Amino acid sequence: MLLEGKIAIVTGAASARGIGRATAKAFAEQGAHVAILDLDLEAARQAATELGEGHLGLAANVADEAQVRDAVAQVLARYGRIDVLVNNAGITQPVKTLEITGKDYDRILDVNLRGTLLMSQAVIPTMREQKSGSIICMSSVSAQRGGGIFGGPHYSAAKAGVLGLCKAMAREFGADNIRVNAITPGLIQTDITGGLMHDERRHAIIEGIPLGRLGEARDVAHAALFLASDLSSYLTGVTLDVNGGMLIH
Ligand code: NAD
Repeated sequence: MLLEGKIAIVTGAASARGIGRATAKAFAEQGAHVAILDLDLEAARQAATELGEGHLGLAANVADEAQVRDAVAQVLARYGRIDVLVNNAGITQPVKTLEITGKDYDRILDVNLRGTLLMSQAVIPTMREQKSGSIICMSSVSAQRGGGIFGGPHYSAAKAGVLGLCKAMAREFGADNIRVNAITPGLIQTDITGGLMHDERRHAIIEGIPLGRLGEARDVAHAALFLASDLSSYLTGVTLDVNGGMLIH
């Protein structure tokens, strides 16, 4: 088992077809106790129950500092340590530059970028005391290629911000044996597009993917499992592309 007895927090893991849920499942199958943190308490609890015994479902908006601190305190009260954090919670919006309102900008930046910072700030003191930890940040191919898949420029900017934050944290906390790495998924079949992506567009995207298919949530989950486990013990500050070859650079 790759994560036997490890304590992992996965944010945004209540969504049934989502990357977070698939990641929580992959971690649980490898022996981890998983705290699922999402907006709706019942949905988070239900998702934790579906993983089996010994997991926890908690409500928190990752962009709200008080809620984040409270949720992390609950994880510590229950398990006493935190080995892995997956900053997965994210939202997107398909608009163009001139359509982005101040409200849109705040919403997209707050969840994707501020949320990653707040969650990391909440777990790092514990990981520092433990002298070990793995933080995984969900960025996007949109950060690397300037969007053009689904999300707007503010989403690309937020996810590029996640990459910068992740690399800076990797540099800062390496001495504490805290590894911080990012994943940049291509187009993964989840519900994040809210049914707004049409088949024609999807087929056009597939034509540009060397592996000839869209990604599945578990494709990303397995990359997260690698980064969470000791298999990646000498990796920090890396960006792992999980995109079927959509972007090779
Ligand atoms: P999803 O919509 O299936 O899941 C996102 C989850 O985040 C949901 O459970 C939602 O309730 C939760 N969430 C949203 N706002 C939150 C908040 N403020 N606090 C706590 N939880 C919140 O999406 P997904 O496709 O599984 O996306 C997961 C991550 O992967 C996101 O960060 C997304 O940007 C990133 N990503 C997805 C794709 C893709 O093609 N699906 C590609 C690249 C990156």
